[in-house]
Amino acid sequence: MIAPLFDRARAPKHPELVVFRGVRAVDPAAGLDALIDVIVERGLIARVGAGAATQEELTSERVLVVDALGRWLLPAFVDLHAHFREPGQEYKEDIGSGLAAAAAGGFAHVCCMPNTKPINDTRAITEMMVARAASVGGTRLHPIAAITKGQRGEELTEMADLREAGAVGVSDDGVCVMSSVVMRRALEYARTFDMPVIQHCEDHGLTAGAQMHEGAVATRLGLRGWPRVAEDAIVARDLLLAEATGARYHVAHVSTEGSVRLIREAKSRGIRVTAEVTPHHLMLTDEAIVGYRTFCKVNPPLREARDIEALRAALADGTIDAIATDHAPHSPLEKDCEMQEASPGMVGLELVVPVLLELVHAGVLPLARFVDALTRAPSKIVGLEAPSLVVGARAELTLVDPDLEHVVSAASLRSKSKNSPFLDRTYRGRVELTMLGEQFAFLGGEHR
Ligand SMILES: [Zn+2]
Repeated sequence: MIAPLFDRARAPKHPELVVFRGVRAVDPAAGLDALIDVIVERGLIARVGAGAATQEELTSERVLVVDALGRWLLPAFVDLHAHFREPGQEYKEDIGSGLAAAAAGGFAHVCCMPNTKPINDTRAITEMMVARAASVGGTRLHPIAAITKGQRGEELTEMADLREAGAVGVSDDGVCVMSSVVMRRALEYARTFDMPVIQHCEDHGLTAGAQMHEGAVATRLGLRGWPRVAEDAIVARDLLLAEATGARYHVAHVSTEGSVRLIREAKSRGIRVTAEVTPHHLMLTDEAIVGYRTFCKVNPPLREARDIEALRAALADGTIDAIATDHAPHSPLEKDCEMQEASPGMVGLELVVPVLLELVHAGVLPLARFVDALTRAPSKIVGLEAPSLVVGARAELTLVDPDLEHVVSAASLRSKSKNSPFLDRTYRGRVELTMLGEQFAFLGGEHR
């Protein structure tokens, strides 16, 4: 057993101050990585620094002292890519359970993709999602609306309306905008609002019937493959369109070494491109589908070791800006079935820290880059104010115990869905609490 962060029974219900004592505060955007106290007053960061808390404060009954010696206090995270299934498929996830999962994962903000039922291609649905999330509280939800009506790839949505209603970007995620004419118009239209156009890069002609990455494993299993070039070809075309239009273009869930090469080259020429990568594309190869089967069916598919190597290097050097979960809840109905029938995707919000700290511990991903890719970088892409540890900022904080060994199980997830190949493994490091404004949006267990 480990000493609790604080005595919940005796903690003041409405503390005047919350003192995070002796934490390793890491906020690369502020140039901060130090063992200090961080003091929150009425939902704002009031003071930071070594010995910032006075002896009087540390002993006051009106002050909540979180004894977190050596644990990491980080700006809370921002996810660019999640699927909350409301409206339409609330048996998989709803906005309430999705936001609870997000808070447990350390997230202050989550951007939700439009492939709900009906599809979020109108002001009414965008407004409904924003209002519903506001009534839940805690982690904030920011809708990403569709690029085209019904995600059919033909007619553009009313982006001005959608933006006014709260959409922070547009995407037909799950489906690629195949027409160059439509994609060009989308980029031109979105540019007038400086909204990012987020593409799911997949040439559907090249992936018809595909169940997994095209390669030796697919051949062995007798499954039709999804070749890398189906992603690379769309990325290449879109980069040319982005260059021609001057619009902001964002590549969702990059999965191939070819995409990485194209994005790196485009950035070096000043094209306004950004990119995200998921934890599963950083950690698993197509071999995983042999052991974990439908839980490892994702779109784009898990690739090979050389792709993983390229993705990790690109995330570390900033070519890939952000880590995004592509949190995709599915019930056993969509997963306990033949590969061909199974829906692609896995849940991810509550697994980011345990799964990716492996890369941080191994020195593959610098801690500062890990934090940046979950805070400042994604915020900038969708125009949100980034959570930070600067005095005066709203308290949006995640406390991480980097060394605690624990097992993530289906029962421990707040998400309604449990479809993840990462469950029932031992991890080193987890989120202990998430503070958003004056509230603890998540407070984890106190025992090892
Ligand atoms: Zn997605």
